[in-house]
Order: sequence, then structure tokens, then C-alpha cells
Amino acid sequence: MNPVKAFALCLFTFTACLSVPAHAALRVLACEPEWGALVQELGGPLVDVSVATTALQDPHQIQARPSLIARARNADLLVCTGAELEVGWLPVLLQQSGNARLQAGQPAHFLAADVVPKLDVPTQLDRSQGDVHAAGNPHIQTDPRNIALVAAALGARLQQLDAANAAAYRTRLQDFQQRWQQAVQRWSAQAAPLKGTAVASQHKAFGYLYQWLGLVEVAVLEPKPGVEPSVAHLQQVLASLKAKPARMVLYAAYQDPRPSNWLQQNAGVPAVKLPFTVGGSDRAKDLFGLFDDTVERLLGAAAAAK
Ligand SMILES: [Zn+2]
Repeated sequence: MNPVKAFALCLFTFTACLSVPAHAALRVLACEPEWGALVQELGGPLVDVSVATTALQDPHQIQARPSLIARARNADLLVCTGAELEVGWLPVLLQQSGNARLQAGQPAHFLAADVVPKLDVPTQLDRSQGDVHAAGNPHIQTDPRNIALVAAALGARLQQLDAANAAAYRTRLQDFQQRWQQAVQRWSAQAAPLKGTAVASQHKAFGYLYQWLGLVEVAVLEPKPGVEPSVAHLQQVLASLKAKPARMVLYAAYQDPRPSNWLQQNAGVPAVKLPFTVGGSDRAKDLFGLFDDTVERLLGAAAAAK
């Protein structure tokens, strides 16, 4: 309805006015594609979602560019990973947005990692160890069981922030959780042969995936998290793999593939690009496709390594 007609209707019948919400949908700004996809699943037509990063960008470091600041200014809900993943850019973005509702501690500031038990929490904090992820490993989206935990909390938050539509959010959450649980069972069964497989990682990005599927990380290519490995360092990793061989080396779609490809050439193990998040591959069009593709790529590499 155009505004003139809406206004005429208001004059005509006051109750019609009251039923028109201030804006059609809850405006959501998601920091990473996986949370954009999740809030879309849980909100459907009730949410208007924009995502700050793509699957081909490093979520640890992006620019708080003007278009992003404008989106933060208008958002009703922020959905980010937390656990310091966005520590390099989100505080600046929020400060520049001037949006009081979105600030840390407000109900509209939702952090997924807050509801997930975290791996790799350092006992001793030393920033000289690179980007150490002081709050633990933030890459929680690589285990689909974490997605279910986040969905429950995010669904409740949507009901709280948009109470008029609470019943609809509740129904969508139940529907999603049911479909997700079935899918997780299917992926777990498909990936069962991977249990115990030794793998190398380019960045310490897949700890939750390994925990879920029982993969064993025997080497990490980055000398420190977020630091590109030199050839000398790669040669050290190669030497360490002689004692503890890896069957494959994994890297995320946003990463430079060269270190993994170097290991593929020199250790003869397949380098496997994982989508890492929604949009990281052609098949990872949504959260279901993300794990369909991840499991298939791992199984394919394990078969090739035999
Ligand atoms: Zn990281």
C-alpha cells in the first residue's frame, strides 16, 4: 500500500492504523553469513537481513566501511559470533553507527558464541602469540550442533524483541530445529567413517568440526593464528608430519590456498577447501547445503587419500 492510501485508511478507520507496524520487518545485521542464514530461517518474512561479510572475506578483519555503518545505524538486531572474532572491527562499527540499541549488553546485541561451550580457551594470555582468540576458538559454526544451540537462543531473542510476532517465531524455530536435528543425524551417520582421521589445518578454524566428527588435528600450518606460514615453517611442519602423518590438509574458502597447496605437493596429501560458511561454495547456499558440502568434501578427500 502506498503511504497516501495508508494515510487515507488511517483517517477512515483508526483500528486499521493501529494494526500497521512501525516498519514491516525486523531489520537484522548479521556479522557473518552463517548467522544471516540462521536468522533468515528463524524469521522468514518477519526479518530483513543484511550480512556484513561474505564467505570469501576473512571475518577476523574487515573494514567498517560507510555502507556498513549505515546498515548498523538502522538495524533493530545485531547477530554476531562474539568470542572476539570481530574485535578488530565491530566496536568501531557500533561506535560509528550511533545506534544505542545495538551496543554491547543490550537485548539487540546477540552474540552466538555466548551460548556455546568454547574450545581452545587459553590458560595464559599472551598477545605475542598472534591473534590468540583470548575468549576461546570463535569458529563455532563448523559444528552443526552449535548451530542448534544458537538457534534456540536466537529464536527466543526474536520473540523478545518482536513480541507481536512471538508465536510465529516460535513455530518457525520448532520447524527449523526438527529439520536440523534430522539433518545432523544424517551427516553424523555419513561422516562416521572419518572418525579418527588425522588432519592438518591451515588456520585453527575447524576445532568444533573435528570434535563433532572425531577428526584428529596433527598439525597447523600457521605458525601463529592469523600469520601466513613461511616456506621454512612449512618445511618444519612437513618434517613433523613424518612422525604423525595427516591424511588431508584443510583450509577455509576465504583463505589463500597456497600453504595448503604447498603441503599437497610436498607431502602428497589432498588439500581440501571447505566452504566454512554459507556461500563458501556453490552447494553451500544455505546452512543445510553448508554441511552437505562439508561432509561430502571430507569423504571425497578421505577416499582419495586411501
Ligand atoms: Zn580464527
